[in-house]
Amino acid sequence: MSILKQVRKLSPNEEVFERVTSELIERAIALMESCDSSGLCIRCMEEVEGVEPDACGYHCEECDTWTVYGAEEVLLSVAPLA
Ligand SMILES: [Zn+2]
Repeated sequence: MSILKQVRKLSPNEEVFERVTSELIERAIALMESCDSSGLCIRCMEEVEGVEPDACGYHCEECDTWTVYGAEEVLLSVAPLA
């Protein structure tokens, strides 16, 4: 499933969806700038270390779901929308 579809599913309404997507973009940009390989959980927004920029659907220890994506991957799927 695409990142956006998952975010859509996790967001009860348009307002939440917009807030979550803009936070994801901000966090992903910050991660890309910091240059360490970390990814983001699109469910709980937890930063996960040791994730390649193009990682897809890795496991999140925090919320125990497979919703961790590399920063670049998040930006590519979410940013065109903003
Ligand atoms: Zn999580």
